Amino acid sequence: MVEHVIARYGEISLKGKNRSDFERVLVRNMQRALELWPQVRLERTSGRIMVTLNEAPADEVIARLRKVFGIISLSPVEVTDTEISRVIEVAARFVQEQTKDHPQTFKVEARRPNKQYPLNSMEIAAQVGAGILKANPGWSVDVHTPDLTVFVELRSEGAFIYGEKVPAVGGLPVGSGGRVGLLLSGGIDSPVAGWLAMKRGVELEAIHFHSFPFTSERALQKVETLAGILAQWGTRVRLHTVHFTDVQTAIRKHCPENLGITIMRRMMLRIAAEISSQRRLLALVTGESLGQVASQTLESIHVINEVTHLPVLRPLIAEDKVDIIRRSREIGTYETSILPFEDCCTIFVPKSPRTRPTLTEVYDAEKNLPVDELVRGAIERTTLKTFLMDHEV
Ligand code: ATP
Ligand code: MG
Repeated sequence: MVEHVIARYGEISLKGKNRSDFERVLVRNMQRALELWPQVRLERTSGRIMVTLNEAPADEVIARLRKVFGIISLSPVEVTDTEISRVIEVAARFVQEQTKDHPQTFKVEARRPNKQYPLNSMEIAAQVGAGILKANPGWSVDVHTPDLTVFVELRSEGAFIYGEKVPAVGGLPVGSGGRVGLLLSGGIDSPVAGWLAMKRGVELEAIHFHSFPFTSERALQKVETLAGILAQWGTRVRLHTVHFTDVQTAIRKHCPENLGITIMRRMMLRIAAEISSQRRLLALVTGESLGQVASQTLESIHVINEVTHLPVLRPLIAEDKVDIIRRSREIGTYETSILPFEDCCTIFVPKSPRTRPTLTEVYDAEKNLPVDELVRGAIERTTLKTFLMDHEV
């Protein structure tokens, strides 16, 4: 039975003196992902993380770790001492265990990070290859297109023998890049935008605008489900649910109908900016994509963005809808996103919304709107929930 798994990380290794901070965050996230198996031990060794299973199931551990941002690949691995006869013996056995689907051809790739080792890479490969052939009559070596490649690494801390490299999600460890506010609707786009932001190492605090009773409890549950799915990737996601009903009612009362959507978005951004300042979030993330709908023209984005100095990140700005949908299927949010519950944006939709609003007309349209009071009122009625990897708290 495999006792160890190696987790390799990519870009983190480029981070110079910050590297140990990144590694620390990565190890913490891996621990959270593996909470089901408290016996698992993690250890940093020469640019990778060694996972000691202590009887935890290798395939399930690997399935979990594939979703941890920062890891680029994983391999079940045998670790042994570096004496060559021992390496040969373990490699031959490992190959038999790993290859239930009866490969016929193989090659050995040897590396020798420990340059003190008495044999060079070619010699190691040749000797281990011969040992595998002896233990598996009928097999042959094929250096170009082998059914199986056996990797052997001789390091000062021991010999590592592994076969497949399972690709993982990549990116940077969540939490290594600070915290951002994600404007999370129940739609397809914003969960994908949040996922992409997490992939670059930031922790999410989702902000959702809810207009009960215009929008239903089920619409809110849907957003909570989405926050929970994102937490599976990000170890932890907080969700601020903003009471938006009064804001929408006031906009309808005080502002021209055709600018309703623009002003609603400006109010969302104002409230999100205020939450960000309270929670010390350094940027906001939205699911906007240029030209996708009327409120996502350059003119609209310009006018909406004008209410805040916070950076507003739009990871999907240049993505086509089909690609966003594909990604949302991959990350597991699609089936929830398409549930047909109305969102606060789909109520009060004007017959002919302005697609190219100007600042002058928006200032004029907002002149009777008690903006500060509405922001304050909405924030006072905001609730907070935290979603962890496997459950909500
Ligand atoms: P999505 O699929 O993310 O809902 P969309 O294509 O429906 O996007 P819009 O409805 O125009 O686009 O929303 C643009 C962005 O505004 C969303 O991606 C999201 O970031 C934010 N947003 C919209 N509605 C809400 C809401 N009720 N709560 C929080 N953020 C929202
Ligand atoms: Mg939407």
